[in-house]
Amino acid sequence: MNFETKRAALEKIYALHDEFAAGLDAACRKGCAICCTANVTVTTLEGFLMRPQIEACGQTDRLATADNRGFRPTITTNHMAALCKDGKELPEESMDPAPGPCPLLTDQICPVYAVRPFGCRSMVSSRNCAETGMADMDEWVITVNHLFMQFIEHLDGNGCSGNLADVLAVLSDPEKRAEFEAAKLICRTTGLIPNRPIPVLMIPPEYQDQAMPLVEKLRACVSG
Ligand code: SF4
Repeated sequence: MNFETKRAALEKIYALHDEFAAGLDAACRKGCAICCTANVTVTTLEGFLMRPQIEACGQTDRLATADNRGFRPTITTNHMAALCKDGKELPEESMDPAPGPCPLLTDQICPVYAVRPFGCRSMVSSRNCAETGMADMDEWVITVNHLFMQFIEHLDGNGCSGNLADVLAVLSDPEKRAEFEAAKLICRTTGLIPNRPIPVLMIPPEYQDQAMPLVEKLRACVSG
């Protein structure tokens, strides 16, 4: 799949999630930005899609000077799935409990909302997050989130993942950007972690049947 096809596929996946989220009774409202922290993880393909809009709204400097990077993942979702499949232990990730706001957040609004990454889209809370300080999602929504994350990582199989600010910093370098577009970006030279293909889908047995129609739609998105 060439780069442009991948980009179009990512947009289809986002549209599919919009459709799914529209069917949920969510408490999320414009101006509620409790989940907009510096802990957001993204793939390089998602970061690439965000870049033009970040530049258009003059946010590039804020990212470059962001001193708070929040959570830096050491393992991707598909790597986690591979370890689970092989019965291996998952590494402990040290999540920053007080990460501060996302460097892009402006007056409690996301200036690049239309192209926000899946880590942000996945935060569909059934309760006002202000009540508990976190998004409230049932097991089905969490299962669906994992599925979307697995397919997005699979789609960007030659790319990398990392903290939003780190990924955007790498992509701000024209050379790295060209390497990424040519599927030649070496993640270990950037401090990001390599994406992987889907080894097995992370669907609990009780959701296998319910998840299948969505899995088929996701497969269609990434099959070009
Ligand atoms: S990218 Fe936008 S939606 Fe995501 S955390 Fe930052 S401000 Fe919030």
